[in-house]
Amino acid sequence: MEKIIVAIDAGHGGKDPGAIGISKVQEKDITFKISKQLEHTLNKSKLFKVVMIRNGNYYVPISKRTKIAKKNHANVLISIHTNSSANSKTSGLSIWVLSKRKINSEVLYWPKKNIKNKKNSDKDQYNKHKKNAKNRIKSEFLDFQSHYVQKSGYIIATNIIKELKHVKNLHKTQYPKNANFGILKSPYFPSILIETGFISNQLDEKKLKNKSYQKIIANSIYRGLKKYFFENFKKIYKKGFKN
Ligand SMILES: [Zn+2]
Repeated sequence: MEKIIVAIDAGHGGKDPGAIGISKVQEKDITFKISKQLEHTLNKSKLFKVVMIRNGNYYVPISKRTKIAKKNHANVLISIHTNSSANSKTSGLSIWVLSKRKINSEVLYWPKKNIKNKKNSDKDQYNKHKKNAKNRIKSEFLDFQSHYVQKSGYIIATNIIKELKHVKNLHKTQYPKNANFGILKSPYFPSILIETGFISNQLDEKKLKNKSYQKIIANSIYRGLKKYFFENFKKIYKKGFKN
């Protein structure tokens, strides 16, 4: 059976420490530990194969992160972060997916971006394509893909939230939130960003540093992904073709 490729993006790294916790722990270290735990959990399953966007303490720019995922034929990207607030009482977990508006504009601009540095024959091809773009964009592959990416991203995020609900003190999120973070912008695969807790909150920070807690987060993500790819993939695929 062909495996589902999960790109795991440990937020920050190297010269970019991310947020600093109250005990001076750095976000990049927490995100890496949770990501390694997630890698371990997913690799134990026959269903998944992991691609680590960064596999050590080094800096990778956002644009390169999505490129690495695409190059490795990722079916889904999971970006791990911790949140931070000036208010030390703020706590909880949030999950982000790409906003509807942004995905549409990404898809609409996609052909143009990709033609920029190409040969003349490709440009002619593009101009031909452009003539019919209005009608074609609605029915074509990209449209299918944008629906697929958008719907599946939202459903995966919802599944993960359901799995995380039994995690005490980290269940404030009811629905995935929409955002335009750079890491979420790829039109090729669904991307989900998880803020695993507030590093600026004493209780959250303590948990985030705890290995068994990191395992709980990794397991919840794993179960959310498994549920989606087992139960929903066929359904979404068919819906995408109808539109
Ligand atoms: Zn971050």
